[in-house]
Amino acid sequence: MDLLIRGAVTVLTMDDAMRELSGADVLIRDGVIAGVGQGLATTGEVVEAKGCVITPGLVNTHHHLYQSLTRAVPGGQDALLFGWLKTLYPIWARFGPEEMRVSALVGLSELALSGCSMSSDHLYLYPNGARLDDTIDAAAEVGLRFHPTRGAMSIGESAGGLPPDSLVEREADILDDCIRVIDAFHDPAPGAMLRVGVAPCSPFSVSRELMRDAALLARDKGVMLHTHLAENDEDIAYSEAQFGMRPGQYAEELGWTGPDVWHAHCVKLDGAEIDLFARTRTGVAHCPCSNCRLGSGIAPVRTMRDAGVKVGLGVDGSASNDAGNLVAEARQAMLLQRVAQGADRMSAREALRIATRGGAEVLGRDDCGQIAPGKRADLAIWDTSGIESAGSWDPAALLLAGPARVRDLFVEGRAVVRAGRMVTVDLPRAVEHHNRLARALMT
Ligand SMILES: [Zn+2]
Repeated sequence: MDLLIRGAVTVLTMDDAMRELSGADVLIRDGVIAGVGQGLATTGEVVEAKGCVITPGLVNTHHHLYQSLTRAVPGGQDALLFGWLKTLYPIWARFGPEEMRVSALVGLSELALSGCSMSSDHLYLYPNGARLDDTIDAAAEVGLRFHPTRGAMSIGESAGGLPPDSLVEREADILDDCIRVIDAFHDPAPGAMLRVGVAPCSPFSVSRELMRDAALLARDKGVMLHTHLAENDEDIAYSEAQFGMRPGQYAEELGWTGPDVWHAHCVKLDGAEIDLFARTRTGVAHCPCSNCRLGSGIAPVRTMRDAGVKVGLGVDGSASNDAGNLVAEARQAMLLQRVAQGADRMSAREALRIATRGGAEVLGRDDCGQIAPGKRADLAIWDTSGIESAGSWDPAALLLAGPARVRDLFVEGRAVVRAGRMVTVDLPRAVEHHNRLARALMT
């Protein structure tokens, strides 16, 4: 069945030529973009896009959906990374399957309302029977394209690590469960709605052996690898003290570079590490709001992009953002490079490209992230007739002005948001459930 989205003010295609089409339509057939241009016709359903800008659906490359239940926790509001983690670990240790599922439902809905059609998630703690399956259930209900990663922590406090012993797992169990979820859920086919990755939490919470074994397993299974890397000065100091080398060198030694790897943050990568990432086609999930919130610094995104490093955006978990709004994240990415290097160093268009096609490249999805025939029909429709963009001269207003929420979102040609509301999830009910769980954690 065809779906025609008709008469947009502008379609920002993010295709190879970065075409921007005025007064244009997008034709969708069987979840795939069948045509883009003026005057397209259909006998199927029509969605009017008068007064709207259309972009590819935004792509979120780093998140911890479970943290949506721990926004603005008082003891964690003003701490640096390691202190922040130590405040939150005991609270997270009380989570179970219901907390994982409901927080993912709310977190993914929040992303959808901000124009996100595809998200990864990094779940690295599994207390009280929680499983990756809980978040996968939620993503199927919301209808977003989902790249969950089986995270892990294995070095607890008694072994010199940061997390409490109650939140770490045996390394053999971790690898077994990675195999289980890959075999059960991973879909390597083009157009896949779900792909699983392997993601030990960070070099400071797992052993060197687990990092190496995770890389071997991921290559054997043909799935991607993800972790946190070079997030702040404490992280670099830990790497130098414990491993006698910088994070980039540690990653390279253990097989953690390549087109099938992406690292979150990378705020402190030096020139040699940036060259290494460019040469090996290793991706970066840039999380500007989280980096600001935790005072980690400004990631050298301009230098990375100029060197040819693949960069996507991540909202990061809601204990350190605390908003899960991806289009706001794109605006922050643009502003932060300007603070660091000047107003001509990151345009709104480049930030939008990073937020869409850049993220798709980082996640290994050349079938997504652009509006072109044959690509998956993941589209965000932004109503630019409202007050936020009143008086704007150019579609760049989407990041320079607003709106910060989509009117409609289609994923694989299916409606997830219409008229600014979730159509797949009873959101008021989900938020009420979520708040009830958060209140229980406070006591
Ligand atoms: Zn993170």
